[in-house]
Amino acid sequence: MNNLETLYRQVIMDHYKNPRNKGLVTNSLYKTIHIKNPSCGDDITIQTKVENGLIKDIRHDGTGCSICCSSASVMSETLKGKTITDAKKISSTYINMLTNQEYDTSVELEDAIVYQGVSKFPARIKCASIAWKAFEGTLEESE
Ligand code: ZN
Repeated sequence: MNNLETLYRQVIMDHYKNPRNKGLVTNSLYKTIHIKNPSCGDDITIQTKVENGLIKDIRHDGTGCSICCSSASVMSETLKGKTITDAKKISSTYINMLTNQEYDTSVELEDAIVYQGVSKFPARIKCASIAWKAFEGTLEESE
């Protein structure tokens, strides 16, 4: 592994061991989406609170592999506080990066860039994307 891959791995393991924004809330202002990934056993729930066009809060909970659980934490940190427009743009850029499609490299992915290498492992792409897909689902629920 080169230095960059080592650094990326450290970020992933840190979010896996010390997840940010973990734990669900009982609050009707939050939209909730639950997604399972049967191929790997990932089972994740995302909650999003939107207020005045801003992502005010993102919560997550669930069980799964290190890629899945850490990416939920990274996603919550990356998108919290963003406008809906920016959050959607970051999310679609991230998914395009993972799925080896063309993506806008001018979009700041912040820590989410650490999953870039996952695009080389088709079996793990779903692990790294389900939390983000669930997040996108919560926005659709809000509309
Ligand atoms: Zn997984």
